[in-house]
Amino acid sequence: MTTSYDQQQPLKKSTIMKRALKLLLSFMKNRIKGAIFTLINGILIMCLFSFCADKNKAKNASPVFIEPDTEKPDIVLISVYDNYKIKAELKTAWGFASIIETPAEKILFDTGGDPVILLSNMQKMNIDPGSIHKVIISHVHGDHTGGLEDFLEKNNKVTVFIPASFPHSIKDMITDKGAKYTEVSESMKISDFVYSTGELNGLLDEQALIIDSKKGLIVITGCAHPGIVKIIEKAKTIMKRDSVYLVAGGFHRPPMAVVKKFRELGMQKVAPSHCTGDDVREAFAEEYKEDFVEYGIGKRIEIK
Ligand SMILES: [Zn+2]
Ligand SMILES: [Zn+2]
Repeated sequence: MTTSYDQQQPLKKSTIMKRALKLLLSFMKNRIKGAIFTLINGILIMCLFSFCADKNKAKNASPVFIEPDTEKPDIVLISVYDNYKIKAELKTAWGFASIIETPAEKILFDTGGDPVILLSNMQKMNIDPGSIHKVIISHVHGDHTGGLEDFLEKNNKVTVFIPASFPHSIKDMITDKGAKYTEVSESMKISDFVYSTGELNGLLDEQALIIDSKKGLIVITGCAHPGIVKIIEKAKTIMKRDSVYLVAGGFHRPPMAVVKKFRELGMQKVAPSHCTGDDVREAFAEEYKEDFVEYGIGKRIEIK
């Protein structure tokens, strides 16, 4: 019920004071309520904005890899499985496997198709499977995964970095052999100066390897199913570089125009092998001359 002041009897001084105080209190209460409401609204809007910003950040930004401010290491790249041959005493077969040696460790990238050929080639090259610290598998095709199971029987003290989309049968096989695996989806650091591009989508999902060497970036590809140009562009974006020192591995028989495109991409040296295709490989040799590196089983590239 509301009352108007003009209907009321004259009031006592104390009552007037009380009413005035009550009115003031109620006014202040409403103002405080209003202020709290505005404050909560403000906080909610800010949270919503920062959530949206974070979501965009996660989508667009590439992780930045900051290496310790030390000298980059010497790198040795050794082909242990390929359909191209450099050393006569080694056996070729369709597939790809290479070893990356840093002063700290040895990494096996892909395992070829035939475990017997992989292990016998390694033996002939005096590479003990037990000396390998990490294994990276580029993609699910048998000419890259074929040697994995037998390799793990010789050495299960490794972590195998596999694309996250790999089937459970391979993941279970790795753990059954007593080894560990890491699923790769985004670009990530594998070791000091060694990174994965992350699982790149294409006709077939695949990861490639990036090494930050003294001479510049080295990119190693298994079959390059997502496209060799896409892989190189991704590597440059992740590492924030304008050029790549060397790219080696299977280029998945790209169109001839890719040879010229490599110059635009700032590729300094090329070592195409495996599934690149003879004609594309020859075109690279013609274009790159002394910067074309003949890569195949038995080849050892030292980057110092
Ligand atoms: Zn493949
Ligand atoms: Zn292949």
